[in-house]
Amino acid sequence: MAKMYYEKDCDITKLSGKKIAIIGYGSQGHAHALNLKDSGCDVCVGLREGSKSWKKAEEAGLQVKTIAEAAKWGDIVMILINDEVQAKVYKSDIAPYLEPGNALMFAHGFNIHYKQIVPPADVDVIMIAPKGPGHTVRSQYVNGKGVPCLICVEQNPTGKAYDIGLAYAAGIGGARAGVMETTFKAETETDLFGEQTVLCGGIVQLMKLAFETLVEAGYAPENAYFETIHEVKLIVDLINKGGVAMMNYSVSDTAEYGEYVSGPRVLPEAETKANMKAVLKDIQDGTFAGKWIAENNNGRTFFNRSRAMLAEHPMEIVGAELRKNMLWGDDVDPDTASN
Ligand code: NAD
Ligand code: MG
Repeated sequence: MAKMYYEKDCDITKLSGKKIAIIGYGSQGHAHALNLKDSGCDVCVGLREGSKSWKKAEEAGLQVKTIAEAAKWGDIVMILINDEVQAKVYKSDIAPYLEPGNALMFAHGFNIHYKQIVPPADVDVIMIAPKGPGHTVRSQYVNGKGVPCLICVEQNPTGKAYDIGLAYAAGIGGARAGVMETTFKAETETDLFGEQTVLCGGIVQLMKLAFETLVEAGYAPENAYFETIHEVKLIVDLINKGGVAMMNYSVSDTAEYGEYVSGPRVLPEAETKANMKAVLKDIQDGTFAGKWIAENNNGRTFFNRSRAMLAEHPMEIVGAELRKNMLWGDDVDPDTASN
């Protein structure tokens, strides 16, 4: 069983007198900076010179410095810029200013686990990873609630890494919902596995192949879009609310029968599991990370080509047309995408 911490286990006064530098003001950055400020912490945001977020952060009442100045100023430095640029920015603008006893913090384990960032031994290395998009981290906090977080400690030379991490989790509101202890290794590997097999890789491939199958059989693309893509959200919302049982309760018995007969036909257990295990192995042994780092170093040719091809796929073109006339009216915000 994973160890869980709640507000009563966190002492936010462990952050008293500590200067907290939040590097980046994107989805997570703005939420952490504002929540910590509202929790009474001494916060500053570190940004690139000329960053569009500079004015936004200042208007929100935050002090802003360059990344190097913020890193120098901070006792705690939380890195909340894109994972694939963190190593470069760390080397040039953060590492030179880390002092013994400082805490270096992350919201995802990729760079520490795959050794793209190797901090000095006299610095605490802590992860507080909210299990939700930054905009939710902010809105829940404002409503007196919180988004659950993971806490992981990779280095603890001060012996205070858990105190700091838990206080930080309380400061962003996460401790109201619960803080689960895990490791950089487990967080990184399970996060990558989830997004590759289900959340992004699996779902998109499943929807795409089903859409193509209907269109190739002569059905209208609009019809295919509704049946294989649009309705996914309705199904996922039900599962999210009450498990598969609630979804099955809500759909017809015909749909449920089809689930039992055709699900395993589309995704045969033995073959699918073998493929998933191979994906997991590539994540565990660093093959996937190595490829992604090389892709970034080589101008992202495959990545950009894949993105362009997807944009031209009929499911995207038809979907864009149909969505123009669908007044969902709810809060779909691409900036709050899954992580
Ligand atoms: P984001 O894309 O919303 O924001 C990243 C910010 O970094 C942007 O403001 C961008 O302008 C800035 N940036 C990009 N390149 C930069 C550079 N070279 N130098 C300086 N700044 C640069 O990212 P995010 O989703 O907030 O992710 C931040 C961290 O949080 C990542 O480690 C991510 O894995 C983690 N995380 C994200 C989520 C999520 O749902 N979005 C959830 C948990 C953890
Ligand atoms: Mg993720």
